[in-house]
Amino acid sequence: MPKARIVVIEDEVAIRRGVADALRLSGYEVVEAADGPSGLREALAASVDLVLLDIMLPKKDGWEVLSELRRIDPARPVILLTARGCEEDRVRGLKMGADDYVVKPFSAKELIARVEAVLRRTRKPMPEVRLVELGSGLIDLHRREIRWADGSRADLSETESALLKYLVANRERAVSREELLSRIWGIGTAGLETRTVDMHVARLRAKLRDPACPDDPPEAIVTVRSHGYMAGPALVVVAESSPVGH
Ligand code: CA
Repeated sequence: MPKARIVVIEDEVAIRRGVADALRLSGYEVVEAADGPSGLREALAASVDLVLLDIMLPKKDGWEVLSELRRIDPARPVILLTARGCEEDRVRGLKMGADDYVVKPFSAKELIARVEAVLRRTRKPMPEVRLVELGSGLIDLHRREIRWADGSRADLSETESALLKYLVANRERAVSREELLSRIWGIGTAGLETRTVDMHVARLRAKLRDPACPDDPPEAIVTVRSHGYMAGPALVVVAESSPVGH
């Protein structure tokens, strides 16, 4: 697996540097942010594995960052950096979906132990979806193509394939447009460019129209009102590769 990428959102320079140095020494890739808005943007980038989040931050505090992050990406791991004596903060943080917390001042050793524990829990590689059946067709996500029973076929772009793969891998839930933007495009600015997602979904849907039943094709991607999209029940996973190294 590649190095885990960790975003450190902390305005106090000495603490931020200390944390970043300790993480880098332990082999992690680190991105630093000194305020709420830039921290949120970095935290939503596509390849982030963990976010270390201070509470008292300029411009947008840690609570706002956490709730925004949870709304967009319910699964992105977060460890709060809380102040001594703020028991309520810890309870509130965990209730809001933080994965863990450390209390300032903390040692590098303690921090690394917490980081490792959260990553162990959260960084389980998902099995990769390879083949999906849809009506009379078979979607090959490795080759990025759809083959229909009548012999016709269509190619999927890299983005369309990634989009479909992500929806299918998370087929038990609806996925928001913002989460798709963040995970597929790596754009972390909430509320922006969500039309990009709609355009790609429209194009993908057109390619997924089963020629065997042109009037009533099985629904591959379901629109979830005022939220986003979900893999439709017509998509049936027939082959998944097990994660590398497991
Ligand atoms: Ca602070």
